[in-house]
Amino acid sequence: MRLPFIFASCCTLLSVCTQAEQPDTRAHQHGVARLELFKLATDLQISFYATGSDILGFEHQPQTQTELDAVKKAKILLAQPDKLFQIAGADCQLKHHQSNLAELQQHTKAEHKHSHDHNHDHDHDHDHDHDHKHAGHSDIEASYQFSCKAVTESVTLKVNLFSLFPDLQQIHSSWITEKGQSAATLTPADRQLSLN
Ligand SMILES: [Zn+2]
Repeated sequence: MRLPFIFASCCTLLSVCTQAEQPDTRAHQHGVARLELFKLATDLQISFYATGSDILGFEHQPQTQTELDAVKKAKILLAQPDKLFQIAGADCQLKHHQSNLAELQQHTKAEHKHSHDHNHDHDHDHDHDHDHKHAGHSDIEASYQFSCKAVTESVTLKVNLFSLFPDLQQIHSSWITEKGQSAATLTPADRQLSLN
């Protein structure tokens, strides 16, 4: 199974770029988030996507101190995967984490100068559409790469995101492992995934 591996390793590097290119399979829907997992041998990658509304309580550029604090708080929370996910059946160490909340903080500081538009003009046709997203709904993304030891046949993941972000009602989850791929919708009452 080479394909999941290639996808998983490219995904982190390209997620920012491909986001603008992909067709809209990720409809922006308040209360509904998305989780994508790739597990191959000792590597586990988790990507989380949610609306700004569900994570921050607003979707514009943060302006007030309260809004800036909300971004800071969410950034700290999303940087602690052991609070977000309880992984059983493997001993996993975080190797890399990124989220676009840092970008949100930088945009505010730079007062939205549009300089980033020009950097990409020759590469992408879709820049204009993409940039205008900042004016309306926005999405929060976070990704985690783990290296795991003692990986068993049944790795499970308990997802704590509902209690940390109470506006979330559903998390559409999909995963790819050596054994194939599968999907499930998590709710506050049913928040455990088995990566089999
Ligand atoms: Zn929205």
